[in-house]
Amino acid sequence: KIHFPLVVIGGGSGGCSVAAKFCRRLGKGKVAVVEPAEYHYYQPLWTLVGSGLKNVDQSGRPMEAVLPKNCEWLKTRAAEFIPEKNIVHLQNGDQISYDFLVVAMGLQLNSVQVKGLSEAFKTDPSVCSNYFRETVEKTYPAIKNFKGGNAIFTFPNTPIKCSGAPQKIMYLAEEYWNKAGIRDKTNIMFNSALGVLYPVKRYGDRLLEIVKERHLTLNLKRSLIEIRPSKKEAIFQNLDEQGKTETYKYDFIHVTPPMSAPDALTKCTSLTDPTGFLSVNKTTLQHTKYPNIFGIGDCTNVPTSKTTSAVAAQCGVLEQSLSDAIAGKTPNGKYDGYTSCPLLVGYKQCILAEFDYDGQSLETFPIDQSKRRRSMYHVKKDILPPIYWNVMLKGHWNGPQRFRRLMHFGKDR
Ligand code: FAD
Repeated sequence: KIHFPLVVIGGGSGGCSVAAKFCRRLGKGKVAVVEPAEYHYYQPLWTLVGSGLKNVDQSGRPMEAVLPKNCEWLKTRAAEFIPEKNIVHLQNGDQISYDFLVVAMGLQLNSVQVKGLSEAFKTDPSVCSNYFRETVEKTYPAIKNFKGGNAIFTFPNTPIKCSGAPQKIMYLAEEYWNKAGIRDKTNIMFNSALGVLYPVKRYGDRLLEIVKERHLTLNLKRSLIEIRPSKKEAIFQNLDEQGKTETYKYDFIHVTPPMSAPDALTKCTSLTDPTGFLSVNKTTLQHTKYPNIFGIGDCTNVPTSKTTSAVAAQCGVLEQSLSDAIAGKTPNGKYDGYTSCPLLVGYKQCILAEFDYDGQSLETFPIDQSKRRRSMYHVKKDILPPIYWNVMLKGHWNGPQRFRRLMHFGKDR
């Protein structure tokens, strides 16, 4: 049995950044990170990989290179949590105990929930997804090789990470097909399980204008349940009419798979809420039942859009709350739900959505960010990646709050 003052489960955006902060505070040998993956990926780049703007190698770095040097990297999975005993069983058979635990496991992608999907990814070049490392490189060739017909973009019936990503790739593909001269023989559909195009009205209204302007078809309350590559058919459940399914022919389909919290977490029901996500206080990020457990990122039940930008803001909150708890004080971090989504609506156009728990805008720049702008495209493509690798993963970036206040003369909005 191994003991550490602080154990972090997951070395993704949240886990790596938090480990960096606390390795600095607590010193060598005090922080363990449990993370099975050999590579760390900056997933926001995958929309750019799928649209041919970046290559996949630019999105990943060896885990060893990004985890803090003085943490203990346990290269295995968390298999079972025993929170009442402060123990985690690891997949390699070890047991690890802790004084404090940070859960940062991200989301599990459940392609098995769509019948035929895993097979279709392997056998049909026109079935692609920016959501998996294994399939993201299929998207751009599929866009380039498309010769017209039905192009479908899906959004599943579960919470997902980056709720803008399923439609960003649609706008980029549409522009590509337009320039390639095949737009007039192409029918583009966004088949989403949601009841709206984008849940925050300020940005959703602007996106709806673009959908109309570019003659994209919006099929809401449609959830993909099966793919039949041999017949080029995608089967959707109509969520408005129970038991009713609809079959669409596809010549290209970009699938956003159903997602959930990872199984190792959902099976420990004392840690989760009824939806299977880690149950934390949405202001302090402290667990609702175990005061020595904290959560960050996609695996938690904080009711905001799951993004790296949200994780950045949560990093500062978690640093405050966890430091308080370690010092024996009441956690005092205050998360307002800040999240952001650079909604690419073309090869050089971006709406930079930034908002809080209530969907109120928290825009960094003193301009109307709901308008599509080239400058925001460069923020997404050229400015955010180096901030991620060089500042956030090193534990120095807590989101743009300070810049926002500066640019708004001390006010928050
Ligand atoms: P992750 O970064 O996913 O890390 C989770 C880590 O936990 C992984 O390393 C995993 O290996 C590990 N893990 C899982 N299970 C276990 C286990 N049992 N034991 C130990 N470790 C485990 N965000 C934005 O801000 N802007 C964007 O434009 C944007 N676009 C996106 C586009 C796409 C296509 C995708 C896929 C994501 C996008 N995101 C975007 C979302 C962003 O990538 C996530 O919200 C962010 O990575 C969440 O960080 P996290 O630390 O919670 O999870």
